[in-house]
Amino acid sequence: MRGNVWVFAEEPLEESLKLVAEARTLADSMKVEVDVLAFDLKEEPEVFGRYGANKVFTCRLEEGENIFRNPIYAETVSRLAKTRKPALILFPSTPNGEDVAARVAAKLDSGFISNCLEIFFENGVLKARKPVYEDKAHAVMAWTGCETAIATMRTSLLELKESRTGRPKMVRVEPAKVDVGVRFAGRIKADPKLVDVSEADVVIGVGRGVSPESMKLVEDLAEALKASIGGTRAALDKGLIPYERQIGISGKKIAPKLYVACGISGSPYHTLGIKNARFTIAINLDKSAPIVKTADLTLIGDVQTCIPAILKKLGGRRYG
Ligand SMILES: Cc1cc2nc3c(=O)[nH]c(=O)nc-3n(C[C@H](O)[C@H](O)[C@H](O)COP(=O)(O)OP(=O)(O)OC[C@H]3O[C@@H](n4cnc5c(N)ncnc54)[C@H](O)[C@@H]3O)c2cc1C
Repeated sequence: MRGNVWVFAEEPLEESLKLVAEARTLADSMKVEVDVLAFDLKEEPEVFGRYGANKVFTCRLEEGENIFRNPIYAETVSRLAKTRKPALILFPSTPNGEDVAARVAAKLDSGFISNCLEIFFENGVLKARKPVYEDKAHAVMAWTGCETAIATMRTSLLELKESRTGRPKMVRVEPAKVDVGVRFAGRIKADPKLVDVSEADVVIGVGRGVSPESMKLVEDLAEALKASIGGTRAALDKGLIPYERQIGISGKKIAPKLYVACGISGSPYHTLGIKNARFTIAINLDKSAPIVKTADLTLIGDVQTCIPAILKKLGGRRYG
């Protein structure tokens, strides 16, 4: 009998719920169930039921234990997997997800495919599609000869879809006793401006319509919105952004909650990279620019006057 599809959940929960919904579709095609590993989550684990979970394994480490938890999670998941034999354990493609997944794969001596865009079941074989060559091509890979497949998956492109109404079965699991050997010594907050544009919740895009002098305004807006700065090929050519911040067909594909396009015309080469942005605001002098048709909201005007006006609304003292 084939094993179930497991999902390792982490906070923020919305991303893990998308993963559970994706696992549900896969499990249906395999005619198996979806089990969620809900370790140390603040939310009530029942919520996973709505997105397709049949069972939730909960596990809670002592409050205030100032330790690096991933080795404990990995050992706990591996022990559970050795007895329950899931067909696949799916982790979010996040720093923690990748870390725990790699440890579990090593402990189970399993095949591990990271950063998957899609996982599917074809002719009795589990396969995954993943980007290669910096997203310029996709490879399809298949797991062979391992009882439990291990994968990490990008959640930014997945849909959050509810599928069931039933309450999942709850199973409490004791955390494994592991000598971790390291502990957290402290936390340093990341500067949102330095976050990769493909991972940021808010992105400001700059184009040819932004002058080098206006970049200070863009940086102030980025600070106010906790945004990462990217831009067009033209902005790259003008030296406003480095290559790794170019967005578009030959740059990064982004999926932020908010994209603010400043002085960008909306060439298809650029808009292909922003099609998964949830809400786009364009600032442009020209009301016939193509971006005006695709943006959710447009400010017709000069970036040099529109950005200070936004900052004033946001309460920036210098712009009051
Ligand atoms: C093979 C190939 C691959 C490419 N890959 C990419 C890619 O990955 N990403 C990418 O972005 N491009 C890419 N391009 C280039 C693309 O075709 C466009 O040339 C580019 O996106 C245009 O950038 P832009 O919108 O900044 O500049 P423009 O098209 O020149 O637009 C500037 C806009 O700014 C507005 N504007 C001017 N001054 C102001 C102001 N003061 N205030 C407000 N608005 C103002 C103008 O009205 C105009 O709409 C590629 C091209 C090719 C051929």
